[in-house]
Amino acid sequence: KPRALYLGADVGTSGVRVCALDGQGRLRGQEVAELPTGVGGDGRHEQEPESWWEALMEATARLAAGLPDAPVRGLALDSTSGTLLLADRGGRPLGPAIMYDDRRATAEAEAIARAAPAESGAHGASSSLAKLLHRLGRGEGGTAVHALHAADWLTGRLTGDYGVSDENNALKLGYDPVRRGWPDWVQELVPGELLPEVVAPGTRVGSLAADPAARMGLARGIPVLAGTTDSIAGFLATGAGAVGEAVTSLGSTLALKVVAERPVFAPEHGVYSHRLGDRWLAGGASNSGGAVLRQFFTDAELEALTPRLRPDRPTGLDYLPLPETGERFPDNDPELAPRLEPRPEDPAEFLQGLLEGIAAIEARGYRRLAELGAPHPRSVRTVGGGAANPAWTRIRAGLLGVAMEEAEHGEAACGTARLAAGWVS
Ligand code: ADP
Repeated sequence: KPRALYLGADVGTSGVRVCALDGQGRLRGQEVAELPTGVGGDGRHEQEPESWWEALMEATARLAAGLPDAPVRGLALDSTSGTLLLADRGGRPLGPAIMYDDRRATAEAEAIARAAPAESGAHGASSSLAKLLHRLGRGEGGTAVHALHAADWLTGRLTGDYGVSDENNALKLGYDPVRRGWPDWVQELVPGELLPEVVAPGTRVGSLAADPAARMGLARGIPVLAGTTDSIAGFLATGAGAVGEAVTSLGSTLALKVVAERPVFAPEHGVYSHRLGDRWLAGGASNSGGAVLRQFFTDAELEALTPRLRPDRPTGLDYLPLPETGERFPDNDPELAPRLEPRPEDPAEFLQGLLEGIAAIEARGYRRLAELGAPHPRSVRTVGGGAANPAWTRIRAGLLGVAMEEAEHGEAACGTARLAAGWVS
């Protein structure tokens, strides 16, 4: 019987997943509640914050009902990076939340580009700062006193105390993680009183209030800790955290992250760093990844062909598997074209060429991060759809020349639970 439990929740696009870890980091339960996709079209994507709350209550209540009898000692949340809402003094949302992938705020992104330093995390129409400017510009500020990310708002509702964010979510709102504050240029663009107080992920921000405690089937007063973004939670779930430990996400795109002693920034490559206590998580993302595999193979075909791959016998095809022209990381070249010729008759050989090509981009990516000042990885863990392919792992091990380690957990919610346990920082 465990002596203590730690709960993490991941608020994704399609659902809220919650998981419970014990003091040894073992999974003691997980549940998911679905979310309505929200309103979209024309670059818009909105969701009702209330739907997140209901899903969080529902998933946690189901989780709590099945947990072993042990005190819950911490609770934390992560959410999609860049999703933003406005709330009034009592924390009531003013209209829907603008989701992470909403692309409306292009004019606002231009205003940010004029004001912000190149290495700011607030660039682009998908930043939470661009979304905040968009809503203020349309006169939707009203009685707003809080601009909050999804995890910030939910954390506030759990404790009854709004207006706090974490250093990872706040990055896209323009927070400066190096100087640990709101830069002047942000306060010139938006009213300073809307900006949340920012604390390190894993900082205790309050206690679970009576109402949500009753709905979730948990004791009131459980420590609630500041959370993080979904991709950092995905990193933390793997168990990585020491300097030099890296995590590759092999999903639709290829994203690399490595723990560094100092932050690295290379705006031309889209490389930036999140603060993680006294360390940094440096990362970059290529356009390559599983999306290219999907152009040619279904997941079932991938699985069926995998036993026919020969990781010890490279094809020499030297592909550059991009879904379309243009790349930013590891090479910044909008004209870079995919290279997928010649195409062998045998689909297994073609697949192996694609996997080798993506692995070569991964290896080049880690070399690029090292050139920029991050350590070259001493180990690599893997998350995402490609993590399940053992032949690909062997191909990658050969090209990376480092130890490939098993991820402890694959779900972001487990990373947030590790944060709730105080194992990160
Ligand atoms: P997303 O980034 O969309 O969340 P996932 O982590 O679910 O992606 O991974 C989906 C990707 O994984 C797809 O692009 C698919 O091509 C790839 N994939 C699925 N199964 C395999 C497999 N057995 N081997 C290699 N890649 C796979």
